[in-house]
Amino acid sequence: MEIFFTANIVYEDIWGDAKKKNKMIKEYEKQLDQLVEFYSERVDLYPVGPILTHNIEAFGKQPVFSRDGYLRFFGAGHEMVMVDIDGKTYPCHRFSPWITGKPAPVGPINFQKEWRPEECNSCKLISICPTCAGFNWEINGDTGIRTRYHCDAFKIEFIASAKLEANRLSNIDKSNLKYLPVEDLRINKDKIYSIYSLIYEGLD
Ligand code: SF4
Repeated sequence: MEIFFTANIVYEDIWGDAKKKNKMIKEYEKQLDQLVEFYSERVDLYPVGPILTHNIEAFGKQPVFSRDGYLRFFGAGHEMVMVDIDGKTYPCHRFSPWITGKPAPVGPINFQKEWRPEECNSCKLISICPTCAGFNWEINGDTGIRTRYHCDAFKIEFIASAKLEANRLSNIDKSNLKYLPVEDLRINKDKIYSIYSLIYEGLD
C-alpha cells in the first residue's frame, strides 16, 4: 500500500519579526534538504507534495489565462460557491465575514488581467506560486493583489523541488532513455532546462 503525504505553508503571516522569520526559514530549508536527501535515494516513493513536487518546468513561464481571458489561481466566484447556514452565498468559504472579519465583496471577483504587486507580476515563479483570493481580499481589499507572507518559504520549496529533480534525473540510467515515451523525454528536457536556468539566472 502506498501512502501519499501532503503539506503546505499557510498564506497567513505566521512568521513574527525579521529575526524570528529568518530562523524559521533556515530551519525549514534544513528540513527540506533532509527530505530531498531521503527522496533522492528512494526513487520508488512519491515525494511529499506540494512542497517537494513544485512544477519546475514552469520556471520563468508566464501564467496561463483562463478560457474567458482572465488570470486566476482557483475557481472562487466561478466554478466554486459556498452556501452559508443561512443560505447566503460566497465565492468560497474564505470570503465569509466570520473568517475575514469584513463583508464579502459586492459584484464579480477574481477577474484580473495581471497579478499585483509588481514583485509578483514579474516573478519567475508567478505561473505556479499559489495565492488565495479570499485572503488577498481580506488583507489587500482586492483579489488580484497577492499577499506575500509565504514568498520566502515558497522559493526555498521550489529550489528543494529542483534539487530533488536534479538528483533523480542524474540517477537515470541513460541506456533506458530510449524506452521513455516522447512526452516523458520532453518533460525531462524541460526540467533540465529549468534547473540550468535556476542555477545560472537565479530566482531574481
Ligand atoms: S514567489 Fe513571491 S514574488 Fe513570486 S509570485 Fe510568489 S509571492 Fe509573488
